[in-house]
Formats: sequence, structure tokens, C-alpha cells
Amino acid sequence: MSLKRFLFVLFFVFILLANNYILSDELSFLEVDYLGEKIKILTTLKEINNEIYIPLPLFSSTFGYAYKQVADEIHLYDSNNEILIAKVGEKKVILHGRNGVLVNPILKEGDIVYFPLSSFYRLIGYRAYLKNKTLYIVNEISNVDYSKGILTINFKGKSQINFNTLNLSAPPRFVIDLQNVVFIDNKGEINLNDPYIKSIRYSQFNVAPYVVRVVVEFKNQIMTPEIKKDLGKLILKFPVKYGENDGQEMVRLYDLSWEENADTLNFFLRFSDNFTYTKNFLPNPNRYYYDISNAESSLTYTSIIIQRDPIISVRIGERTKEDYSLRVVFETYTESDISEEVYSNTLKISFKVSKKGNLIRENSINYTVFVDPGHGGSDPGAIYGELKEKDINLKVSLKLAEKLKNKGYIVYLLRENDITLSLDDRVKFINDKINSNNLLLSSSILISIHTNAAFSPDVRGIEICYANDLSESLVKTFIEVFNSNGLMVRRSIKGKFYVLSRVSIPSVIVEMGFITNEFDRNLLLNDEYQDKLIDKIIEVIDKYVEGGKNE
Ligand SMILES: [Zn+2]
Repeated sequence: MSLKRFLFVLFFVFILLANNYILSDELSFLEVDYLGEKIKILTTLKEINNEIYIPLPLFSSTFGYAYKQVADEIHLYDSNNEILIAKVGEKKVILHGRNGVLVNPILKEGDIVYFPLSSFYRLIGYRAYLKNKTLYIVNEISNVDYSKGILTINFKGKSQINFNTLNLSAPPRFVIDLQNVVFIDNKGEINLNDPYIKSIRYSQFNVAPYVVRVVVEFKNQIMTPEIKKDLGKLILKFPVKYGENDGQEMVRLYDLSWEENADTLNFFLRFSDNFTYTKNFLPNPNRYYYDISNAESSLTYTSIIIQRDPIISVRIGERTKEDYSLRVVFETYTESDISEEVYSNTLKISFKVSKKGNLIRENSINYTVFVDPGHGGSDPGAIYGELKEKDINLKVSLKLAEKLKNKGYIVYLLRENDITLSLDDRVKFINDKINSNNLLLSSSILISIHTNAAFSPDVRGIEICYANDLSESLVKTFIEVFNSNGLMVRRSIKGKFYVLSRVSIPSVIVEMGFITNEFDRNLLLNDEYQDKLIDKIIEVIDKYVEGGKNE
């Protein structure tokens, strides 16, 4: 067979198959769920290219659009207005007098005109889905905005949105379920710098029926909003007060970037609007800080380790709860020449690069160590007979904290006695201390003291746990110092440890030994051994701090 002839035959086979396909997938009775309203229709539907085709007269009577057909041109009317002009076989259309595109065009088969339902609804802001013999027409969420107590949920289709609400506790949350709505991106989140609201998350909660769930998580207590319905919009007003700045729009910091030149390291802080700032310097250790009035950050992070001469890190945070200024802190290795420039809502801060090899932190004694005695109160931790992990942890931690203080370290002990502290309490304690005291991220570490347990009584040794790269050098120092002093580190474990992965300082858990192993147990209860362990932990910290100075 010649190629020409072959292609000719292939063409006919293709036409036959295509026709066959068009004739399949027919449904007789169909349930239509139009934004929650249920209608039953008798129809012959076609599904081609993920498109749902419906005979035009049926589309018209079911969904309430009048139409006029002039040859191959279809005019669609909504009440008295012409909304759509489209031609059979053409994707380009006119919608409300403007150009538009249907993903799939109108089809004609004999005398019957088939209307592309999915493409049409998509064009006007809705989505059509065929699931379990039901045709769902749903609205589509376009975006979620929050500003100063007002949450606005915008939809593509201009219809009324039905919803249910719900209050949940621990953590305190307000939930609004948007009925007959899809969110194409599936999941979204706004991290806020707001005194009352912690975060706003939204996602597709259910399909067929289609529900998008928006969860507002509060910092302290649940606040029930007043909800205003509008066409294609829901406005939730939370009963919050913003003090003297009430009613004033906050300026948002939405971007932070930097560039490295031969002589300068330049940072660019981009704001949503005009801003005013004050600049300050705190020496020893060096911190340059900028307070931007009436501002908040919409960045998802609160700190970045830079480690480029002369900047160690940048930290972004609210100043106080009453004062709505945003504080941006630059931690530097040395004092630096610094200049600012403001243009088109951007604050450019230039730091003069100091001489290479001169990145010496001038005063290492301002080093902060958080000591966290694991468990406590109602949470005993590991148990062996009468022995409780929480008591061993506390005893060692108290001695460790005392010795560190005597060496000139700033020490924060998370508990000093047998009280219950949740993991969230611990994260909050550390982050609050860092923020309220402007602690240097690069000169603060967390040591969490624990005692291990295993099913097998044979398992013994020390384990060092950590959560991120930031802590790797500290872990390395532990292994070095411990192993060369007869303290056996059986392994180091990297994992998503709850507290460790929620603080932005180098942090480790020291599992001192196994309460379930006789040898380890005797060591753990021995004062002399405890003191040796503590001395070696301090040696690790000293060495780690020393290393940081010479980096
Ligand atoms: Zn533990």
C-alpha cells in the first residue's frame, strides 16, 4: 500500500472512531445541581475532550438563558441583555460586548446544536463537573484577602454564596464552609502579622458536593465575625480593635531581597505603599534596626541567616502588641558603614563590606543558651519502676544552667520545677524571649535534656537529635567532644522534632542515656557522672561558640 493510500484509509478509520466516540457516553436522566439547587432533566449529553456538550434548547430551558439562532451564529440572552455571541465551530466569542474564548466551541450535528457547558461556565466564572450522574455547576474561589480585621473572600462567578460556620478550640479557630464552590489551586494560606489572627488557610474540603473550607486560626481566643453577603463576595468582619491606628491601612512588607557587590551588600525592602521609618543601632553585639511605622509583614518567614560580610542575619517582627510598627533587625559581625535610599516604596539599605577575614564577633559572652528540661508535671516522660525521666532531666538541667551562668552565658531555663509545659508552650517561650530581648539568632542555642527508653534492656548510649542544617555544626561538636571523652554517642538523628523545628536557632535534644538499660541507669543516677556529662556539654558549647567566632 502506498503511503498516500494508507493515510487515506487511516483518515476514514479515524472519522469512524470519532463518530463512534461522539455517540457514546449518553445519559438519559441527569440530576443537575446548580449552585445547590437540584433539577432533574432528560437529556442526551456528550463528553468530548473533557467538555460536556448539551443540546442548545435544553441548555436554554434548564439554565434560564434565551437564545436566538441566525444560521451558525448563536446569541444568548440573560433577562433582556445579550450576553454571548458565538459561532458554531469557533472558539472566539463575544461576552458582554468583549472578546472571549471558549475552550471548546459550539458543535452542530445534523440539525442539533450542542452547547459546550463547561467552557461556557468557565468563561463566566463557574465550573461544571459531571460526577455520579450529577452535573454540578459551582462557583470558583478567586482569592482571599485579609487586612485589619476584615477578611474578604472573592469568587469568580457573581452569585450569592451559601455557607455554614463553626467554632473549634485548641487551637482556637473559626471555620466557614463555602457551599458549591471549588478552589482550583486546592490549598492556600495567608500567614499574618496580626495581633489577633495567626493564619488563614483555605482548601477544597469536599467534592460532589463541592465545599471549600476557610479556617481562621486565632492567637488567643475565638472571635466570631459579622458576615456580609455580596454578589461574588463574602466579607467577614472580626470584632477587633487596632488602637490609635484604627481605620488606617497598614503598609505591608511583601518582599525582601539582597545583592552582593564588591564594596557593598544591599538589601531591598519592598512595601505596598509609602512608609516612614526610624533607624537605630545597638552595639556589642551589633544590631542595626529599622522601625517602620504602621506596618506589617506578609512574608512567610521571620528570619533569614545571611552570613555574608558584614551581615549575619535579618529578623523581621512586630515590635509590640500596642504599637503597629514593624521591626527589621540586621545582625552584623562588625560595625559597618551604612546608608539608606528610598524610592518607589522600596527601602534600600547598603552595608559597606568589611575586610575579608575580619568577621569576628567582638563579645562572645553575650551568648544565650536555652536549657529545656524535657517533660514535667503531668508528663513524666520515660518511666522505669519508680524512676521518672522528668526528674532526671530537671536535676541535670538545673546544674547545667547554674554552671553556664557562672561561665557568663545568658541562660533561660524553660522550667525550674515540676510543672507541665506543652511543646507549644516551649516554642512560645523561646520565640518570645528571642523577640522581646532582640536576641541574636547567631548567638543563641537550645539544649533540650532528655532520658531515653527502649524495649530492649540492652540498648544503651547517648543520642543527639536535631531538626535542621542550622544545627549540624553543633551536633558535630557534640559527637567530637563526647566521643573523645568516653561518652558514647550511639547515633545522631535528624528529624522533624516539634520544638526544634519551630525555633530558628541551632538546637539539639541530648538523650543522655537509656533508663531501661542497667548500666546507663546507674550512670544517670550517679552525681559524679552527671557532673562529667554537664562539664562536657559546656565544653561543647564553649567550643561551638569559639568556632563561630573564627568562622
Ligand atoms: Zn524525653
